[in-house]
Amino acid sequence: MNLSDILASQASLLKDASEALPHQFSQCTYNLGYIRQAVYLCKTCSHRRGICSACSIACHTDHEQLELFPKRRFRCDCPTSALAHPCALHRIGHGKEEENSLNEYGQNFDGVFCRCGREYDAEKEIETMIQCLACEDWYHESCLNLRERPSSRASSPDATEAAAVDDDAQSEASSSGLPPPLVAASAYDAFVCSACVLKIATLRRYAGTPGVLMVVRDTPEDAWKIIGRQADLDDVVDIGANPGKAETTAIGEKRPLGDSDQVPQQSKRSRADSVGTSNVVNDAANDEPPHPCLSPEPNILGQSVLSAAQAKRGEIATLGTGDVFLVGDWRKRWCRCKECLSSLQNHSYLLEEEETYEPPEDPDSNLSLEELGLRALQRLPREHTINSIHAFNQMRDQLMSHLRPFAEQDKEVTETDIRVFFEAKMAEKAEKKG
Ligand SMILES: [Zn+2]
Ligand SMILES: [Zn+2]
Ligand SMILES: [Zn+2]
Ligand SMILES: [Zn+2]
Ligand SMILES: [Zn+2]
Ligand SMILES: [Zn+2]
Repeated sequence: MNLSDILASQASLLKDASEALPHQFSQCTYNLGYIRQAVYLCKTCSHRRGICSACSIACHTDHEQLELFPKRRFRCDCPTSALAHPCALHRIGHGKEEENSLNEYGQNFDGVFCRCGREYDAEKEIETMIQCLACEDWYHESCLNLRERPSSRASSPDATEAAAVDDDAQSEASSSGLPPPLVAASAYDAFVCSACVLKIATLRRYAGTPGVLMVVRDTPEDAWKIIGRQADLDDVVDIGANPGKAETTAIGEKRPLGDSDQVPQQSKRSRADSVGTSNVVNDAANDEPPHPCLSPEPNILGQSVLSAAQAKRGEIATLGTGDVFLVGDWRKRWCRCKECLSSLQNHSYLLEEEETYEPPEDPDSNLSLEELGLRALQRLPREHTINSIHAFNQMRDQLMSHLRPFAEQDKEVTETDIRVFFEAKMAEKAEKKG
């Protein structure tokens, strides 16, 4: 085998790997520690444990898995002694890392979701589910009173038939014949379940006020209605002393989500200016003079629904669940007085958008993850995928350590330098054979 053969075989190896993996699912996220990332439950290996997306592909390919979607402060369990199955991506000698003591395993890690505690079955579930921003559990639309529970659920042959076709067809089928949800997905930016609202004082105070939607009703005989609508938000602006800014949006006009920040923010600013502080939106610096609470008047119906939910009286289900939907650029609307801020600061995602880890893009691949899809990936001939990943990893890691000194000395890497690497590899192979 000569050099050009090796280069060619490396090239085809690279091509195979990148075709199989448009993202670089070649590195377990274990070393990144506790981060927000897509987590997978491997039902074959263990419940109450979670693995990263790379491990879900490389280490547990032929196992039964369930994607739990992003979970914050989570470290991959695959390379730890919590899972007997070996990790193909993160290795330390013959052993395993210690168990992750800081991971939290909610009911999703038992394959159970929502406050109704139903199991998720991809083949049968026809309801849209919504993730709580705070606890990151998933809720059925019907459990949030956004629409009736589809009666054809699970038992119906229609549902089974729909599930047998691809995802698009399935979601079409699930929405056909159903009324649109009471609150459209495009009408809000984030959802927080009532259990979480009850734990966060500021969120509880805002529930049902403009921009913090709730689905409620006055009596069990009434229809469900929404409080905290955008129109109410615009009313607030009209009260503010900033008529020039409010004109851009008519009351009740539908705006794209990303656009809706302007109005409330300006409203908050103008109110703040009138009491003599100009820096409300920034983090409360310690030397800033204390300013009065600017949170809106609590919504009476919203508060009573939440009290009922907390007391767990029958009213929970009858007058509302106490869940809230946060509209538009809601992070900018919180009052930042000492009291409001301190309750938000324990939940930093309420103040700043948090980062969710994504596997790095492979620059050589023009496929996106969406185009290929994890499911498609798992349908690939498994042996081929796994072998490619292993070989590709090994080769890339070796090449990287060969090239590291260049990076450290800020030296340019030439073609010869790379050639040296492959020549050494060739010699290695020849030695093994001889
Ligand atoms: Zn992993
Ligand atoms: Zn597994
Ligand atoms: Zn692994
Ligand atoms: Zn449910
Ligand atoms: Zn929650
Ligand atoms: Zn306040």
